[in-house]
Amino acid sequence: MNNNELWQSVLAQMQLYISKANFATWFQNTEITLKENEKVVISVPNAFSKEWLSNKYYKLMLKTMHDIDNTIKELEFTINPQSLKNFATKEIIENEKINIEQLKFDEFKINKETNLNPRYTFENFIVGSFNELSYAAGLAISENPGYIYNPLFVYGGVGLGKTHLIQAIGNKITDNLKKKKVKYIPSEKLISNIISAIRSNTMESFKASLAPIDVLIIDDVQFIAGKIKTQEEFFHVFNSLYEKNKQIILSSDKPPNAIPELEERLRSRFEGGMIADISLPDYETRLVILKTKLQEKNLKLPEDILEYIASNVKKNIRELEGALNSLLIFSKTNNNAPTIETAKKLLKGFIFSPFDVANYKKIIEVVAKFYNLEEKNLFNSTRRKEIVRPRQVAMFLLRKELKYSFPAIARKFGGKDHTTVIYAYKKILRESEENNKLTEELNLIKQRVYSG
Ligand code: ADP
Ligand code: MG
Repeated sequence: MNNNELWQSVLAQMQLYISKANFATWFQNTEITLKENEKVVISVPNAFSKEWLSNKYYKLMLKTMHDIDNTIKELEFTINPQSLKNFATKEIIENEKINIEQLKFDEFKINKETNLNPRYTFENFIVGSFNELSYAAGLAISENPGYIYNPLFVYGGVGLGKTHLIQAIGNKITDNLKKKKVKYIPSEKLISNIISAIRSNTMESFKASLAPIDVLIIDDVQFIAGKIKTQEEFFHVFNSLYEKNKQIILSSDKPPNAIPELEERLRSRFEGGMIADISLPDYETRLVILKTKLQEKNLKLPEDILEYIASNVKKNIRELEGALNSLLIFSKTNNNAPTIETAKKLLKGFIFSPFDVANYKKIIEVVAKFYNLEEKNLFNSTRRKEIVRPRQVAMFLLRKELKYSFPAIARKFGGKDHTTVIYAYKKILRESEENNKLTEELNLIKQRVYSG
C-alpha cells in the first residue's frame, strides 16, 4: 500500500467518527508526505489544523493506521504552506501583541471603511467544543476568502459570540490581505438601506456601492424574515458577489431552514456553503473564559468566586463578562476583591433560580419568539401551517419538559380535546426522531428555555 492509499483508507475511517462538516474542516488539504521506520509524517495546511489534529484526532488516526500497518507507531504533523495560503504561527503571535496593545486604545474605534470594531479578533476569541466548528471555518475563510466555504452561515443564541467571530474574520482579512475590501453590515442597516433605496429610486447606485466588496459580512440575517422586498434585492446582491467568488459571511440566531418567511431561493443560497453553530459553553469552558478575560485585563479574583460565577451564570458569554465586570468595578472602588458573600450579592441580577428557569410562561415565550409569532397566535384555533406546527411544539415541550398532563395542556390551549394534545405530542416525538431539522429546532428552543 502506498502513502496515498494508506491516507485514503485513514480518511475513509475518520469519516465514520466525525461529522461531515468537521471532516471537511480538518482533513481538507492533508496528505502523508513521508513514511519512515515507525513514523508517518502528515502534512496539513496551517498551524491551526496541526494543533487541532494532533490534540483531538491523534489517537484515533494512529490506531486506524496501526490497524492497517502494525509497524506504524508514531505520527508527526508538518505544515505545508502550499496547500493553502498560510500564515505561520509566528505571525499570529506577533499580531497578538499588537492587538492587545490596540485593545487599550481602539476599544470603540470603528473602522469607517469596513464598519468593523477592532476589538473583535481571533486572538481574544476563546475556543471550546461549543464553538469549535464555527471558529475553524472562520479561521480557514480568513486565510483564503471566497474559495473555501461560501457562504459561511454561523448561527446560535444571543451573546454567544457570533458578532465577535464574524468581525474577527473581517479584521483578520483586513490586516493580512490589505487589498481585500471588507464590509460589515448589521442586517437592520441592510434592510433600512434597501428600503430607502427603493423609496428614492436609487437601487442601482446602492448595488453599485456594494459591487467592489470582496468580503460581505451580514450580522443577524434572521431579521429579513418576512421582508419580501429586501429579500428580493438581497438575493441579487448575494448572487452578483457569489458569482465573482466574493466571500459572504452571515450570522443568524437560527439555521436557515428555521428562519420563518424566508424565500426558498434565498434559503437555498444560505445553505449552499458551510453552516456552523455556536452552542452554550459548559462549566469548564465558562471557567476558562473568565480566567482568560481576567488575564487579558491583568487582573485577579479569588478562585472560589470564579467558580461561583462559572457555575451560576450560564446564559451566555455576554453575561459572564457582565458578572465579571461588576466584580471588577467593586474591586477597583474598594481596592480589594469582594468576599464570596459580597460577590453573591453583587451577582444576584445575573443568576437565575433553578425554579424559574423552565416554566409555562418561558416555554410559550421562547416558542413564539423562535417562530416569529406573537404569543397569542399560538392559541388561535387556526389550521394555518405556520401556526399549527409551533403550537404542537409548545404542547410537546409542556409535556416533555414540565410533565404537564394532557388535559392540563388542553385547558391551556382553550379547552381543546386532550386527544388533540396527545396527537400533537406523538407527532412531534415521532418526527423529531426522523427529522434532523425538527430535532435541531427543538434543541435550540430548549437551549433558550433553559438559559434563563
Ligand atoms: P452574539 O453576536 O452572538 O450575540 P457577541 O459576539 O456580541 O454575541 O458576544 C457577546 C460578548 O461576549 C462580546 O463581548 C464578545 O466579545 C464576548 N464573546 C463571545 N464569544 C466569545 C469567545 N469565544 N471568546 C471571547 N469572548 C467572547
Ligand atoms: Mg451579535
